[in-house]
Amino acid sequence: MGDTLPSHGNPACIDQIRANPPVRQARASSRQLRSRGHIVNTATTTRLTRIGVPRALLYHKRAALWGEFFSELGVQMVVSPPTNRAIVESGCRISVDETCLSVKVAMGHVAWLAEHSETVLCPRYVSMKKGELECSKLWGIYDIARNSVPGVDIVGYSVDGSHETHKRTSEAGELYRLARRLGARPSLAAKATMKALGAQRQVVLKHVVAQESVRRQAPDRPRVLVAGHAYNLYDESIGVPIIKTLEALGCEVIDSEGVDHALAARLAKQISPHLYWTNSRQVLGAVEHWREHVDGIVFLVTFPCGPDSLVTELAVRRFKGHPMVTLIVDEHSGETGLHTRLESFVDILRMRRGDNVAGEGPGAVA
Ligand code: SF4
Repeated sequence: MGDTLPSHGNPACIDQIRANPPVRQARASSRQLRSRGHIVNTATTTRLTRIGVPRALLYHKRAALWGEFFSELGVQMVVSPPTNRAIVESGCRISVDETCLSVKVAMGHVAWLAEHSETVLCPRYVSMKKGELECSKLWGIYDIARNSVPGVDIVGYSVDGSHETHKRTSEAGELYRLARRLGARPSLAAKATMKALGAQRQVVLKHVVAQESVRRQAPDRPRVLVAGHAYNLYDESIGVPIIKTLEALGCEVIDSEGVDHALAARLAKQISPHLYWTNSRQVLGAVEHWREHVDGIVFLVTFPCGPDSLVTELAVRRFKGHPMVTLIVDEHSGETGLHTRLESFVDILRMRRGDNVAGEGPGAVA
C-alpha cells in the first residue's frame, strides 16, 4: 500500500510514485521498493482487504474510529494482541534506549503485525487543532516504525491542524483521502469518514457521562483518579495492572480520559497557559476537574517521558495537600513493587478518610 505522508527523510511520497511509474513500479519488486525506503506495494493501494492495527498509542483513543472506518470500507482490521511480555521485549530490542516505554511497546506491536499482516496502520498526529501539539514521538511514529521494523508496509495519514509541518490537515479530511486512496467512491469515503467520527464521539461521550455521573456522589470507598495518557492507562502491561490492583484494594477508579477534552484543555490552560501538548493538557485538566472529588491521585508515567515529568511536577506543586503518587513504569518494573506502593498509598487514603482500617475487607490495615 502506498503512503502519502509528507515525511522528513521519506524520499517517495505517493505523488512521486504516481507521477513516475507504471513502468518503474512494474520493474521494482515490493522488496526493492522497501529497501529504498518507499512505503510500499502500490499495487495493493486500491485492493486492500486487511490492515494491521497496533494495539498501542493512538489505538487506545481511536479504536472505535478506525473500527467503524475500515468496516464501512470493507477492510478487515487485524489488531495485535494485548501487550504481553514478548511484545514488550521485542519492542525494546528494536528501539533505541532513549525511547519512552510507550513507543517501545508500540514498536513491539508493529513488529508483531509485520509477521501477521500485509500492511500496518501508522498515522501521524502532529496536532488536532491550532495552538495544540501532540508529543513529538507521535509526529515521528511513522518514521520510527519504518526504521525500527525495516520492510514493514505502512499505511498512514498525517493530521496537522496547526500547520506545523507540511500543510494544515484535519482528521476528517485525512480519513476521507485515505478512503479514496483505498479505492472508495467519494460517497462511500464520505460516509465512512462521517460514521467513523460519529462512532468515536459516542465512545468518548459515553465514558465522560459515566464518570461524571459519580462525581457529585460521596464515595463509600477510596476514590482514586489515575492520570495518564490513554495509551498508558489502557495498555495491558502498563496501566491495566495498576487499575486492577487499585480495584482489588477496594478503590473506585476514575481515569483522566473520562473528562470532556475541551473542558480539560480549558482548565489546564488556566493553570499553565503555555502547556501546548494535547495529552498533557488532558491530564492536567482532569486533575483540576477531579481533585476535590477524589481521595487521591495516581500519576502514571512511562520512562523516560519529557512532557509527563513536567506535568507531574507542575501538578504536585500546584495541588499541595492532595495525596498523590507518581508511578514511573519502564520495561524493568515489576508488578510486586507497584503493588506494594499502591497498597501503602491506599492505606494512607483510608486513614485520611477515617475508614475503619482495622476492619475487614480489601485494603484494610490490620
Ligand atoms: S508523551 Fe511521553 S509517553 Fe507519550 S509518546 Fe511522548 S514521550 Fe512517550
